[in-house]
Amino acid sequence: MDVATIEYVLGDITEQEVDVIVNAANSSLLGGGGVDGAIHRKGGPEILAECRKLRAGHYGGGLKTGQAVATTAGRLRARHVVHTVGPVWSATEDRSALLADCHRNSLDLAAELGARTIAFPAISTGIYRWPVEDAARIAHEAVQDTELDLIRFVLFDQRTYDAFARP
Ligand code: ADP
Repeated sequence: MDVATIEYVLGDITEQEVDVIVNAANSSLLGGGGVDGAIHRKGGPEILAECRKLRAGHYGGGLKTGQAVATTAGRLRARHVVHTVGPVWSATEDRSALLADCHRNSLDLAAELGARTIAFPAISTGIYRWPVEDAARIAHEAVQDTELDLIRFVLFDQRTYDAFARP
């Protein structure tokens, strides 16, 4: 099993200097609120242009929950944005495996792209309402075995940071 460095940063994922920034996208791939909106705003129109091409091609029906796809990072300091669709929280259905898939598929795609470093937001914990402590546990487990050197979780507020960074 390979061991990567895992770090936690309180801040804005669009500012990160890593090979890959992961976007908590929605299935349309055509932009949204939260971290998705921030990435498109700061990365510029090139990212959306590539997303539109994906929708016109292989991803005509949109990106399924748990899947991941890569585009340019436009004006961001990263080389690629990997878009993944987190599951919406459900109190009646266990969707944990889908949240783990988001992390695993993003890591695998990053490795295929030759990336060494990656930054993740707290996928599904915003508009999709996943309880932060539980999302942190699932994210941690999912990133344990990877070829990459560095995994950075970038948390946007203190409460989310505390949930992720707690030993
Ligand atoms: P989802 O739809 O998967 O819940 P959101 O974007 O609504 O995605 O929220 C996911 C997490 O990203 C939340 O914790 C939210 O506070 C956080 N977030 C929002 N903007 C940023 C940003 N610029 N950098 C890092 N995290 C962010």
